[in-house]
Amino acid sequence: MAAHSLNKMLTAVDRWYRRQGRSLPWRIGPKERDAGETPDPYLVWLSEVMLQQTTIPHATPYFETFRKRWPTVQTLAWASWEDVSAAWAGLGYYSRARNLHACAQAVAELGRFPQDAAGLRELPGVGPYTSAAIAAIAFDERVMPVDGNIERVVSRLWAISSDRTEAGWRAAKVVISGKAQELADAQQKDGRAGDLAQALMDLGATVCTPRNPNCASCPLWDFCEARKQGEQERYPMKAEKKVVPTRYGSAFILVRGGEVLLVRRPPRGLLGGMMMPPSSAWTDEKSEALDGAPGAFDWKSAGEVRHVFTHFALRLDVWTAEAGSKAKIEGEWLTHEDALAGTPTVGRKALALVLKATARRR
Ligand code: SF4
Repeated sequence: MAAHSLNKMLTAVDRWYRRQGRSLPWRIGPKERDAGETPDPYLVWLSEVMLQQTTIPHATPYFETFRKRWPTVQTLAWASWEDVSAAWAGLGYYSRARNLHACAQAVAELGRFPQDAAGLRELPGVGPYTSAAIAAIAFDERVMPVDGNIERVVSRLWAISSDRTEAGWRAAKVVISGKAQELADAQQKDGRAGDLAQALMDLGATVCTPRNPNCASCPLWDFCEARKQGEQERYPMKAEKKVVPTRYGSAFILVRGGEVLLVRRPPRGLLGGMMMPPSSAWTDEKSEALDGAPGAFDWKSAGEVRHVFTHFALRLDVWTAEAGSKAKIEGEWLTHEDALAGTPTVGRKALALVLKATARRR
């Protein structure tokens, strides 16, 4: 696209962002920036890590909790892993919580966040997308963080096609990133690169939606190839989805008075270091129901919970038993509230099944 068209697109997007951009708890909007406020790289980083793979309404309360409890990267670095992992519970992808904590410690040691994408990428858990997002939003570097929203907008603007195979979609993504970067490069050197990135994210989230995009109110109407073809919803042409395999396991909810037993998972691997009800290994086929039970109690079935991770779906048989006050079991006895608050979503689903059944029996 010719430079003058790119400039017109930037102007149209900027005008739209000033009027229609979303107000978000971690964002410094254009008016605040006009008034001299600058984004805090710590809050930008925190929000970006939380928003990977989850929605704004789900991530917002977690963001507020972290901001209040650990208002600076140094305070987060000094926090214990137990406190950080408990506060993270429910956000999923627990390796990210580990990286979050490790990254805070690395930044605290450096004294501040590196100021560009290349430096940011050296931090634990900070990949190409997150480094570009922090560099653009916090430091106005002219790089484009291509999230799902920007990917959709750009693929439609230039009608970037693929044959929907994995390889074809990978190739299309390279073209999308290149076009997105052309937009970033077209900005003034001393411009607000963060505003452009956030404007395109907002446009994708509120106007250029996956279904029924509202093209009539889009600032990029004149420039959009997919709209001219009348084929907006064909883009982006992602690879056809593979069916994820199913794994099976059992979870054991041992209760004692008003308490329930949780154990900490090994530090590496899925849900590493998180508190969970004791459970069997998760395998491709169902094994003996009580394999992995923490002791010979009078186990009763409480039902099944299902949970989908990125690479597999889990079906977990849930068992429950009462433990006598003298039973010696490894793990931590927690109140129902603390256990529910401190375990990831899959653990919470299993606990909720039993605690509901207990409440019904009372
Ligand atoms: S014109 Fe429609 S399809 Fe094109 S970018 Fe705007 S909302 Fe998306």
